[in-house]
Amino acid sequence: MERIELSRSIPKIEFRLSAANSSLFLEKVYFKRLSENEISIPWTDFALSVELRAKLSYTIYDDLKGCFVDERTEEILIPLAPDIYQSEPVIQLNQRIENRLFTVGLNSKQRHFNRLSMEVCNSETLSEDYVLDFIIEKKRTMSWIDNKRYSSKPPIGIRGLYLMKKENWTMAHRVECYWFEDECSCDICGKRIIERHMIDGKRAASSEFALMCAWCHKKEGGLFGDGLGQLYTRMNSNRWLLTFGFTDDQLAEFGDEDDDDDENDC
Ligand SMILES: [Zn+2]
Repeated sequence: MERIELSRSIPKIEFRLSAANSSLFLEKVYFKRLSENEISIPWTDFALSVELRAKLSYTIYDDLKGCFVDERTEEILIPLAPDIYQSEPVIQLNQRIENRLFTVGLNSKQRHFNRLSMEVCNSETLSEDYVLDFIIEKKRTMSWIDNKRYSSKPPIGIRGLYLMKKENWTMAHRVECYWFEDECSCDICGKRIIERHMIDGKRAASSEFALMCAWCHKKEGGLFGDGLGQLYTRMNSNRWLLTFGFTDDQLAEFGDEDDDDDENDC
C-alpha cells in the first residue's frame, strides 16, 4: 500500500501502465485539513464539491512513419460520497481501475492503455485547506509525478525507440549535464524540437556541429560519442539532460563504459 496526495497545488497524478493487466486500487481517501481555520468548510461539503476523474489513455503513433495518428482515452468518474453522519474524514473507495485491451488499425492489433491519470477536476474551487490523501495499491504500474529526474515523454517511431534504448540513466544522473536552453530548433530542418530527443552532433560531411532532431541526426550519420554526438532527453522538468554519447572526459570521471557506437543496428 502506498499514499498519494492530491491538492489544489498538485491536482493531478500520472502513472505509466506497463502491461495489459496493470491496475491501480484505490482503497480509501482521507481528507486532511491543513489549517485549523474556523471558517473553512466541513470536510463533507468539501468532498461533495470535488470531482475525481481517472483517465486511461494511449497515444497511437504510426511506427513506420513516426507520425502521430490518434489518441484513445477512457474516463472513469470516481464518486466521493461521504456519509454525512460520519465524523472521521475518510471515504472508503475500494475501487480498482484496471487496464484493458483494445484493437488498433485495420489488422486489429491488440494494444493496452499506457497511461493512467487521476485528477481532481474542479481544482480551482478547491479549498487550500484540504489535501486528498489516498491509500492505493499499484500493480505493474509506475508513477511519474514529481519524478523530475526522469522523462515521461513518449518516444516517436522506430528511431525514437532506438534512441530511448540508448539512454544511460546511471551515467546521466552521475554526469548531470543539462543543455543550456530548454527550447531548441533543429539546425537542419528548422523545426522546433518537441520530441523526446535532441542531439548535439557532427554533420556527416563536415566537422561542423549542429543541433538536430532525431530524424535529421539519422540522416547526418546518426553517430554518438565524444566529438560525434550527444543525446539529450526531454525531462519532466522540461530541461534537456545528456543521456548518451558522453564525452571522454565525462566517461573518465564518472564511468568506465565505452559508449561510442556506430550505426549498424538501426
Ligand atoms: Zn530536423
